[in-house]
Amino acid sequence: MIIVMKQKATLADLSRVIRTLEERGFHPRPSHGATGTVIGVMDAAGDDLTDVALLPGVDQITPVSSKFKLVSRDFQSAPTVVNVGDVEIGGDEFVVMAGPCAVETRDQYLTTARHVAKSGGHILRGGAFKPRTSPYSFQGLGEEGLQIMAEARQETGLPIVTEVVSPSAVPLVARYADIMQIGARNMQNYALLEAVGEQRKPVLLKRGLMSTIEELLLAAEYLMSNGNNQVMLCERGIRTFERSTRNTLDLSAVPVIRESSHLPVIVDPSHAVGHVAYVADMARAAVAAGADGIMVETHPQPSMALSDGPQSLDFPAFVDLMESMRPIAEAVGRRMKVVGDRSD
Ligand code: PEP
Ligand code: MN
Repeated sequence: MIIVMKQKATLADLSRVIRTLEERGFHPRPSHGATGTVIGVMDAAGDDLTDVALLPGVDQITPVSSKFKLVSRDFQSAPTVVNVGDVEIGGDEFVVMAGPCAVETRDQYLTTARHVAKSGGHILRGGAFKPRTSPYSFQGLGEEGLQIMAEARQETGLPIVTEVVSPSAVPLVARYADIMQIGARNMQNYALLEAVGEQRKPVLLKRGLMSTIEELLLAAEYLMSNGNNQVMLCERGIRTFERSTRNTLDLSAVPVIRESSHLPVIVDPSHAVGHVAYVADMARAAVAAGADGIMVETHPQPSMALSDGPQSLDFPAFVDLMESMRPIAEAVGRRMKVVGDRSD
């Protein structure tokens, strides 16, 4: 159930409604939006709330019929804007998260971070704990990788996003990361979703390789129902019968999610297509489709990368992409900052 408070409801009205619900054993979750306050009572599905409806300040009580609730537009009609340092994700500006697949060396990472910052990127990506398909592939530098990312943040001023692969690693990754990433392979790792949900840190939740949009939204519901409302969703391609690309980028997920959820949507064209030749086109298509940002892999020497080299943009290609996205962003009502000197 969702309780919509009147615009002129006072704080005392709100407290009284919450107290009444708690006395009845429910777990109310107030949410303050631009158009007023609503209270989600997800454990009151079929209950009679007539007593609550009569309290001062209550405008109306509506049942939420969709399977997902807190992530739903029924619960919150205004888009969620996630603030990470100075960066707003889900606001007017189109946001670019970029960096190598994995942190390999201090030099490789800092060089990339400087280039991303200079080219107008907003957030630095990088994997310190890598969920690799083969146990024999490079697994990441672990905490040393996180330390290198923290140094890059210090130098460039850009926030960092990095993946956490297990519940036990959540406290460690949370100490370093500005945004905690849950990877495609872990989208339905419910213990991990609960552990990250308990953090008060922004989360980037990637769509599973074989997951429907509804399953993605239900995974986000785990994060939100555990108290974390700074959630961003990421479309990164799904597995289909098509083999010319690594996965099939489901760009229609962007408008579909935006219709049913208030959460920001990011597109990762790198993991979606898997070949550098297609990445920029799909990034531009993501801007046009209405995404709030992209996450893209870039590396100083893609041919030498320890992971995902074939899908990583070199630096000139990254600069070209940044420049080519701006007019598209503007055409769909978004801003992208103009960066002065991009020469290397
Ligand atoms: C990544 O972004 O580093 C990554 C491993 O992506 P995905 O989880 O989408 O495969
Ligand atoms: Mn990668």
